[in-house]
Amino acid sequence: MNCEAARSSGSRRLGFVLAGFEASLSCEQLVSKTVSNTIRPMLDMRPNCECCDKDLDPSGTDARICSFECTFCSACAEETLKGKCPNCGGALFVRPPRAKEKLAKFPASAKRVTKPGGCKAA
Ligand SMILES: [Zn+2]
Ligand SMILES: [Zn+2]
Repeated sequence: MNCEAARSSGSRRLGFVLAGFEASLSCEQLVSKTVSNTIRPMLDMRPNCECCDKDLDPSGTDARICSFECTFCSACAEETLKGKCPNCGGALFVRPPRAKEKLAKFPASAKRVTKPGGCKAA
């Protein structure tokens, strides 16, 4: 990442109140700060099942995901899909629940993803 990219993503993230503070940092400080804040390996924790659009609790164990984080409820994953992701063919596993107190700081994704037409039985 270069300085300009770090600066613009930094001010987008923090808003204009803190943009002045960011602007006072040196280029290296800014780049390392931005990289460490934005590249965090973390699951999306999608809010719904891609097949039936059922809501999935991010701190529960009803969600199933593949390695690409295609996300399904346990009923669709087990009964309809037989444990296999219909998008990539990968295996579906239980999504690790995120503790409720962590969700305040590391919120689950709010972006709903659904398969047009739902899922066909495997
Ligand atoms: Zn479902
Ligand atoms: Zn998949």
